[in-house]
Amino acid sequence: MTIDIETVLETVKQEVKDKPVPVVDLIAVQTEDPFKVLVATILSARTKDETTAAASKRLFKQAENVEQLQTLSVEQLEKLIYPVGFFRNKAKFLAKLPAALKKYGNRVPDTIEELVTLPGVGRKTANLVVSTAFKKPAICVDTHVHRIMNIWQYVTTKTPLETEMALRKKLPQRHWISVNSILVAFGQSICRPVSPHCDQCPINKVCPQHNVSPRKVKMSNNTNALNFMSWNVNGVRAIEKKGFIQQLKDFDVDILGIQETKAQPDQLSDQLKNIEGYTSYWFSAEKKGYSGVALFCKQEPLKVHYGIGIEQFDSEGRVITAEYEDYYLVNVYFPNSGAGLKRLDYKLDFNRSLHDYLNQLAEKKSVVLCGDYNVAHTEIDLKNPKANVKNAGFTPEERSWMDEFIDSGYVDTFRMFNQEPGHYTWWSYRFNARAKDIGWRIDYFCVDPKSKAKVVDSYILKDVMGSDHCPIQMVFDPAK
Ligand code: SF4
Repeated sequence: MTIDIETVLETVKQEVKDKPVPVVDLIAVQTEDPFKVLVATILSARTKDETTAAASKRLFKQAENVEQLQTLSVEQLEKLIYPVGFFRNKAKFLAKLPAALKKYGNRVPDTIEELVTLPGVGRKTANLVVSTAFKKPAICVDTHVHRIMNIWQYVTTKTPLETEMALRKKLPQRHWISVNSILVAFGQSICRPVSPHCDQCPINKVCPQHNVSPRKVKMSNNTNALNFMSWNVNGVRAIEKKGFIQQLKDFDVDILGIQETKAQPDQLSDQLKNIEGYTSYWFSAEKKGYSGVALFCKQEPLKVHYGIGIEQFDSEGRVITAEYEDYYLVNVYFPNSGAGLKRLDYKLDFNRSLHDYLNQLAEKKSVVLCGDYNVAHTEIDLKNPKANVKNAGFTPEERSWMDEFIDSGYVDTFRMFNQEPGHYTWWSYRFNARAKDIGWRIDYFCVDPKSKAKVVDSYILKDVMGSDHCPIQMVFDPAK
């Protein structure tokens, strides 16, 4: 399917016309000052527009021009621009900016080649400054432009730089300046990076939807359905730096359970603990930088239960349960049997104790158990079963506990909808395993025996990056 770029861009432009104007465009229009546009663009990388706007305002009060910027120390700059993403690095770049601008006569240059010589300025920033501050033809290709142009198959490229070069050849020049703000607004609202809203998209009839998994729509006769997500983030502080807060907003799920937070409560940023629209609950291990689970809930639970009441497991921060009127959502990070299977006995004890705990809950209401189970159940749940029979996560002992669990009636919801091999949720960081799709399915959503009919859908979001695991999702209708 080939799209007509003129019609598509015009339709999308109309669709986003009431969306907020990107902060850098706003500053360009309000100030017509290349210095301020450049500084705001540097601040805006990996940062929400509201945060960039507030930080820019604070900074411009102290430093309206390059001469005033020169008087500020890195420490002062850090304080002024906090909490923009990577504020420490950005403060260093800003401190070096006056010296770097000297060779351009203390003025911001207006070509991409010159701009990229400045500290903290990459091609994307340079293009944005050239197009917004100087109104010269340039195409700012950020993640949204790159992603959406490939979804439309208008270009077939692997990197934003390739996309920029392809668009320079193909896209009529009259769209170069505006395409970024249109597609950023569109990518933040409709064509989201995860589960795009294709059902509401004005161009869904002509879009090739290349490599896209559209959002699962709650059916009108199914308005109670809830979206649950589980993700082993392998270090919440690391993933926060990769844009986790925005990811959660894009996921737009009712509850997200994360595992391996590897952080104590006092190590968590306020932004992480207070993500707009969610209340978060944390259960950390006593040992620093180890294990730990957390929940992000749109609706506050009736109660949150921390652990399962057994000290040797609870001290490792492995189980957190959100209790609602009709169901419990139990978020678990199962132990790893470890090198030499040293912790296999500990793990099997944990598994049996957890099973007892779940059975007690299931007597009262539905139970949803999500998390990293640290076991691939059957041979179709990993790429190389034969080579791994003696390895942690695929030993006969671990697999037979999973057999026991399933035989007792708990349902592996992914297998309700998909019986095929080749669907994985974890890939080793070694050997380029993710690119080669040499993976394991060790993250699951299971439900108690009586709640199978409440499961609407269950799937894996294998394209979501940020951890060595990808998230999994389940749609659940507690009212069924
Ligand atoms: S149909 Fe879906 S994938 Fe295509 S542009 Fe619209 S939201 Fe994006």
